[in-house]
Amino acid sequence: MDTAFDTIVLGGGSAGCIVAARLSDDPHQRVALVEAGPDYGPVGAGRWPAELLSARYQPGSHDWGYEVEARGRRHPQWRGKVIGGSSAVNAVGITWPTRDDLDRWEALGLPGWGFSALLPFLQRVEADQTGAWPGHGRQGYLPVTTLETTSPLIAALQAAYAQQGVPWLVDFNDPDARHGVGRGTRNALGMSRVHLAAAALDPVRNRPNLHLIAETLVDRLVWRDGRVSGVTVLQNGRRQVLSAERVVLTAGAIGTPLILLRSGIGPAEELRPLLGPTSPLHDLPGVGKNFWDQLGVQVVHEAAPGAREQLLAAGAPFGSLVAKVKSDPTREWFDLHVFHSHLALPPGGRFFSSQIWLLEPAESGTLHLTSPEPTAPPRIRGGIGHPLDVTRLVQAIAFVRRLLAPPALAPWLGAEVTPGEAYTGDALRPWVQEHLEPYHHACGTARLGPPGDRLAVCAPDGRVYGFENLYVADASLVPVLPRAALHLLVLAAAEKVASGLLERRSRRS
Ligand SMILES: Cc1cc2nc3c(=O)[nH]c(=O)nc-3n(C[C@H](O)[C@H](O)[C@H](O)COP(=O)(O)OP(=O)(O)OC[C@H]3O[C@@H](n4cnc5c(N)ncnc54)[C@H](O)[C@@H]3O)c2cc1C
Repeated sequence: MDTAFDTIVLGGGSAGCIVAARLSDDPHQRVALVEAGPDYGPVGAGRWPAELLSARYQPGSHDWGYEVEARGRRHPQWRGKVIGGSSAVNAVGITWPTRDDLDRWEALGLPGWGFSALLPFLQRVEADQTGAWPGHGRQGYLPVTTLETTSPLIAALQAAYAQQGVPWLVDFNDPDARHGVGRGTRNALGMSRVHLAAAALDPVRNRPNLHLIAETLVDRLVWRDGRVSGVTVLQNGRRQVLSAERVVLTAGAIGTPLILLRSGIGPAEELRPLLGPTSPLHDLPGVGKNFWDQLGVQVVHEAAPGAREQLLAAGAPFGSLVAKVKSDPTREWFDLHVFHSHLALPPGGRFFSSQIWLLEPAESGTLHLTSPEPTAPPRIRGGIGHPLDVTRLVQAIAFVRRLLAPPALAPWLGAEVTPGEAYTGDALRPWVQEHLEPYHHACGTARLGPPGDRLAVCAPDGRVYGFENLYVADASLVPVLPRAALHLLVLAAAEKVASGLLERRSRRS
């Protein structure tokens, strides 16, 4: 194996595939992409497990097995462990951040992260085939399609939204829409998932200057006096050092802070007892803080008598609709995604669900190192279950119940299975606490911030404060959650950091 590179990219997930592809555009750059999980080669070669290529599943076969503790409960926090990372196991939903989300980032002192400045990077990713909003990217590498699944039940639901005063969105991703309902969009072609290993890496994976090093666990960075010279990795049980002029961390919102913490870069007083007196330390108290995720609950209904048969006869066993909803009508902007879907097959299975996701929860969590061993899981304390969030979700369940009450939905929907009609008013609070689930959009653990911001880990160009050649380019950068699922924004962030690195290089040469 080659061991000396210009740039090493640590973590071959959504962001890592993009950064490696972009940096290796320069044929004079020797780029390595290191990934703990397997690399199944180009998708066209046929070695990928079917479950990672299907847009129907969020498979658990390639998962890190992380957990988040919150208020006495433990919640799984899924993360993909394979080339392509979480894009190979996620729910393939693509949602745009709102213009206001990104303008708020810029207002935090992050030049270059406002909506207009980030727009070219969002567009660079997207090959949107159906969206009506004129700002979409059409020529990118990630196909984005609309989920055209309608049915008589979905038509009745659409009318119910209109009765509630929620407008129809011709394009669900219109970044100026303050609320509305529309059709979901996905990085999928029909029922086939297009993950980032396929979209960004396959077109460039044969480049002689790009080295894919899979099934290799990154332990820690080798650094001194604010300069990284390489990285220690474990491959087939053997420890080796790879050297580099520059390192980019793309190991995701859990992997990236873990590598920093194991390397002695983080809250010094927490790391000293774990890493021992001889370990180099760089005090960056924000590493592992600001662990954000979105969260939600599900309202499930059984089928009314004859509803399954009618949907099957209409050739529409599956249907879905997604809404941007305000938990309280006085809010200026939506704060919830509500994803409705029905499945008339298999007979007797779950029929109709309304997943309610709270996009801007009240509280973040923290991630801590438990051991210097690279295989040790972190301790993650999550912000799941804050009383204000429970209130908003109780309001959201009340909204969904009002929405589904009109007589036009009665031929389709039977009894409410969860929470169940017995849970109303105050009785809903403990039910929500008990049934909260994470959305698996972890982020923020090495966040961006302006110079002088004590808990900022990275400067606006992605460089880790205190280092001249260490960068982060993944979901860890997110300073504040957007009112959106995270994927497209992470991809645009990776494009932006990579583009800055390429520019810096060309200025020097
Ligand atoms: C189940 C699930 C469903 C989701 N659904 C959606 C959705 O529908 N829509 C949406 O917008 N977002 C969704 N997301 C979120 C979205 O997929 C992520 O935000 C995005 O993929 C994060 O990209 P990333 O590059 O930061 O991390 P990842 O894609 O997770 O990549 C990190 C990579 O680093 C590797 N790695 C980590 N540590 C090490 C180490 N020590 N050594 C070597 N390699 C390492 C990992 O194996 C992984 O390949 C979902 C996520 C999950 C898990």
